[in-house]
Amino acid sequence: MISRIKPHYLYSILVVGILVLTFWITWSVSWQQSLQGLEQANQQYLEQFSGHLDSRLSRFRFLPQLVAKNNLLSELLRTPDRLSNVQAVNRFLKEVNQITGASDTYLMDTTGLTIAASNWREKLTFVGQNFSFRPYFALAMQGRVGHYFALGTTSKERGYYFSYPVRHAAGIVGVLVIKMDMSNIEQYWSNQNTQFMVSDPDGVIFITTTADWLYRSIRPLSQQDMERIRGTLRYGDASVNPLTYQPGGKVSDNSRIVKMGLPGQEVTRYLASLYEMPEAGWSVQVLTPLHELTSGSLVMALTVLLLVISILSISLLVRLRIKRQHERERIRREAQKQLEKMVSERTQDLENEILLHKKTEKTLRATQDELIQAAKLALVGEMSTSISHELNNPLAAIRSYADNARQFLAKNKGQKVDENLGRIAGLTERMAKISNQLKFFSRKSSGQLEPTNLNPVIQTAIEIAGPQYQKKHIQINKQGVESAIYADVDIIQLEQVLINLISNAVHAIGDENEGEIGISTEQVEGSIFIHVDDSGPGIDEEDLCRIFEPFFTTRDAGLGLGLSISSRIITSMNGKLSARNLSGAGARFTISLPGYTQSNDSS
Ligand code: ADP
Repeated sequence: MISRIKPHYLYSILVVGILVLTFWITWSVSWQQSLQGLEQANQQYLEQFSGHLDSRLSRFRFLPQLVAKNNLLSELLRTPDRLSNVQAVNRFLKEVNQITGASDTYLMDTTGLTIAASNWREKLTFVGQNFSFRPYFALAMQGRVGHYFALGTTSKERGYYFSYPVRHAAGIVGVLVIKMDMSNIEQYWSNQNTQFMVSDPDGVIFITTTADWLYRSIRPLSQQDMERIRGTLRYGDASVNPLTYQPGGKVSDNSRIVKMGLPGQEVTRYLASLYEMPEAGWSVQVLTPLHELTSGSLVMALTVLLLVISILSISLLVRLRIKRQHERERIRREAQKQLEKMVSERTQDLENEILLHKKTEKTLRATQDELIQAAKLALVGEMSTSISHELNNPLAAIRSYADNARQFLAKNKGQKVDENLGRIAGLTERMAKISNQLKFFSRKSSGQLEPTNLNPVIQTAIEIAGPQYQKKHIQINKQGVESAIYADVDIIQLEQVLINLISNAVHAIGDENEGEIGISTEQVEGSIFIHVDDSGPGIDEEDLCRIFEPFFTTRDAGLGLGLSISSRIITSMNGKLSARNLSGAGARFTISLPGYTQSNDSS
């Protein structure tokens, strides 16, 4: 079942649990601590208040006993009709009253009738009144000390009565009473928060800072008790009604929580601390309402709860942020991985393509080299007639010179023999030169471009092609080829192109007499131009765009490869081969190459 609950629900339940626990613990700890503080404050108030009461009572505690021993009193009690005695006792009692600060002091006979009093002259004098119903009278008549709280029957003021028997010989002849005023006792103790109350053994409150509680009991009284109380006129003729008083949990030995209020009204919770005054039979209570304590604890609990919520929220936010950061990092890493994979795949593809390209280039280059070589051989083949003519002529001459030399030797003409041998040596030298040029032409190129002075290259090409144009008595005109012009070229291939162009020019001129081939160089703004002009018929307009195509030829013996290969060779040197017809007659083939200025400067 639990395993089916999603983790975030579990987390929420945990958080709520922590919050409830935090609230409850904080609230109860704060409440307990505040209650302890309150209890201590209550104890202090209680000590002060009960001490005050005790000191008030102790002032009069032994006074009746002392006064009762005065012979004037017993004398009057024995002879109540003697007016002089009455007056003397009245004056004495008034004096006692004044000295002690008592409210009233009076003397009763054994029937309870007041026969002398400190207030004998006053309108509401006790003299002539019978207080036999008061318990303090009965106690004194039994020979005991009487202490009693009651409302004055005439003054309706609260008072505390101290009584003592007046003795003569072995018997009790009367009772002396000293009344202490307690009407304004609460005024010193009114406190905004803390309430005080003093209750008698019946639980009737007779001193209190809460006016509504006065003469009400803190426990229900039986009918009998009510009548007894009424009989003593202790609280006048008012009926004593109970308050709502519910004792609750104990806080310490003499403190507990009580609920208290007027009947039928809302009750208030108090911390009540109790002090018993056994001699007077009083219960003194200090009561402090708990609502402030409750609200204080609630505020404290809510503050801590808010703090915990804030901490939890912050930790949750931090957790979320870290989680999001991790997620972003993960996505970034994945993207990077993907990218790296793509890059490596693409790199592999490119490497494959480069490899293929290199392979194709190699094949192409090989094919091109083969073609160049084939074209060269074709050219050599073409030139073979004129070459053999070039070689045959000197050979025939050598033979004739040799024959003549023999004859001159036989005739012993040493001078002539030497001349002929010199001519033979000259001719063989020329033949060696031709043979060398052919060997030079048929070598394979390295394919490397290097800065080269073009004029010697042009010169060599003219020489190699020499047998061809010389055979047809064609004139070669050179223009501007004396000064050095540098360019990045493959010497052998450039030679081949030039020989090919001269050869084509020779073919174009054909058998016409006094044909001319012009070879010139030009340097314009960093570019170098080599023009090969001829006095042939020129190129048909419709053929101009096709002559560089492979296998395009208008000659019966032609292969149609010369120009297409030449064009590619020049392109590989970053140049261009172009053709046009000259304005007069004939065609012009132009090799354009980027000039090599640095080498130019250094030359
Ligand atoms: P081939 O010489 O074997 O025919 P080329 O590629 O060298 O092959 O030349 C192709 C064609 O270009 C020639 O057949 C010719 O028609 C034309 N051509 C080349 N050079 C000249 C020129 N100098 N004058 C006129 N036409 C030319």
